[in-house]
Amino acid sequence: MTTPRTHTFKQSPEEAYARFEIEPTPYGDETSHEALLHLLQRAEKNISKSPFRLVPASFNPLDPSLTAFPRPLQSEWQSLRLYLKVLESRAVMMLLPLFWQMESATYRVCRDSGLLFFVADISNTPVNSLAIDSLTIDTIITTTQDCQAVLSYLSTKQRNIPRSWVFVHSVDAVPQHIPPEFSTGTKVAQEVHVFPGVPILEQCGSLIERRAKTFHASDSYTWVFKSDRTLITSAGDDPLPFIRYRLPFVAIEQGVCVCGKAEIEYFHE
Ligand SMILES: [Zn+2]
Repeated sequence: MTTPRTHTFKQSPEEAYARFEIEPTPYGDETSHEALLHLLQRAEKNISKSPFRLVPASFNPLDPSLTAFPRPLQSEWQSLRLYLKVLESRAVMMLLPLFWQMESATYRVCRDSGLLFFVADISNTPVNSLAIDSLTIDTIITTTQDCQAVLSYLSTKQRNIPRSWVFVHSVDAVPQHIPPEFSTGTKVAQEVHVFPGVPILEQCGSLIERRAKTFHASDSYTWVFKSDRTLITSAGDDPLPFIRYRLPFVAIEQGVCVCGKAEIEYFHE
């Protein structure tokens, strides 16, 4: 239904895959998640030969098919930089699962923006609660699930709820609504990651201001939106590029945002 944008690879997929001594074929029309995992497992023995940043190719540490996904060494969490600016953050608590290994990327953004940065673990709720007060944390980066745990504790203790939140959704999780405990003044930025630290759906300042449940497609990928499937292809910066990788949801374009980009909503089958 949508014409895929054309793009130029910095290197061809064949060249990229050859570095790992694997071939990107045969795929057919799309790469399934299982096929991608198979490729990653075959590439694993050669991943350590080059300086990549590695992220887990799963959100679940108990995933039996857990493997590593290589990212460029210089890759940065650019979208977070925008969120923290729009949210007017001054002190940030990192509350994503430690297994996701997103602390260093978050630290770099906070350091460059001159923001206080505090790494927390969800199981340390009493400590986290005190840190929110003593460090005047105004922004928490977390999942919607862990947000509920924090809100539950803070409301039990009758403590203030930080005014800004960044939600990172895993690609296979059904998107959650903004918690009803949030006041109208609470700001929320949201994005969707295909693997931890690999954003594919992001938000702009307008979507954040509107607390929209829609997203913008990341420019790091070209997208194919069909009625029954959504495919992404890396637009050049992934060492091991996605090639018509089928996402576990169907994304639908829902009009155009004031920023000029299509607004996207997604549904799991
Ligand atoms: Zn926008």
